[in-house]
Amino acid sequence: MKVQDAGDVPLRPVTMEGAWGCGVRWLLCEPDGAPNFAMRQFDVAPGGFTPRHSHPYEHEVYVLEGEGVVLQGDVERPLKAGHVVLVDPDEVHQFRNTGSTTLRFLCLIPNSAAAGQFPVAPECGVSASRRPPSGR
Ligand SMILES: [Zn+2]
Repeated sequence: MKVQDAGDVPLRPVTMEGAWGCGVRWLLCEPDGAPNFAMRQFDVAPGGFTPRHSHPYEHEVYVLEGEGVVLQGDVERPLKAGHVVLVDPDEVHQFRNTGSTTLRFLCLIPNSAAAGQFPVAPECGVSASRRPPSGR
């Protein structure tokens, strides 16, 4: 078992093309001894957004605080604390902060995705692999 304050996990900038104002904490993942799932916490600054992209695995998202929208293709779905989102495999999606405070959410993915075994396609269609988290 591992018990840790999420605030003690380093917040790293999201450098994937198409992202702005996003940070991520890899709360629990394979290097922590989790064999199947990675739990990540995203902090999106007011006006910020995650990349608009798709990939062959799902996201399971829980909104912790703030307000925003998730783009389901071209449709904006409003989000606030307490909402959960299932992003289906291969569904184009983007999270945007439309509020005045940080939009914070958990996003769970399979470790196989974290290890870069699946392609991640930005909206422009250029494939890019997700880099695994390095060093904790
Ligand atoms: Zn995604």
